Amino acid sequence: MDLKNLAAEAEKKEAAFNALFKKINKKNARKTDLLVQATHQRVFEKTDCLACGNCCRTIGPRINETDIKRMAKAVRMKPGDFMEEYIRIDEDNDYVFKTMPCPFLGEDNYCFIYENRPKACREYPHTDRKNFYQLKKLTLINSKSCPAVFEILTELGTKL
Ligand code: SF4
Ligand code: SF4
Repeated sequence: MDLKNLAAEAEKKEAAFNALFKKINKKNARKTDLLVQATHQRVFEKTDCLACGNCCRTIGPRINETDIKRMAKAVRMKPGDFMEEYIRIDEDNDYVFKTMPCPFLGEDNYCFIYENRPKACREYPHTDRKNFYQLKKLTLINSKSCPAVFEILTELGTKL
């Protein structure tokens, strides 16, 4: 999938993706999680994130204080100085990077602080999380910027 077309393709499928979430709920959560996790694994086995990097260019992670301490240490800065240089508070009162693409993203899509990246970066795009049925809003947003999420939802549509 060409990244330029991803948002438009995801828009076209939004009704189908919404319908998919209507089929999953607390009662079938465990069974659904197993199916979603298996699909996640299969899709990511053939996804080359280094050829994409779209999440690091377009969606900033939510950052917590532990992340800030760890990242500051990794780049040998004091947490206060790190915050001043890289962090702002967004409209939801969360810490996020001041600029996107992420300041730690290299041209080759490698992350300069990979071992010390924020927890939200490690967990993105959250398609292997427990109680997937609760992640509709987040997953629909991510389907417009992460080709793997688009593919996972498309594949789930044939199985649910
Ligand atoms: S910290 Fe690393 S993984 Fe997280 S957005 Fe930046 S480049 Fe991507
Ligand atoms: S947007 Fe999705 S496929 Fe692209 S780098 Fe991020 S996690 Fe990988």
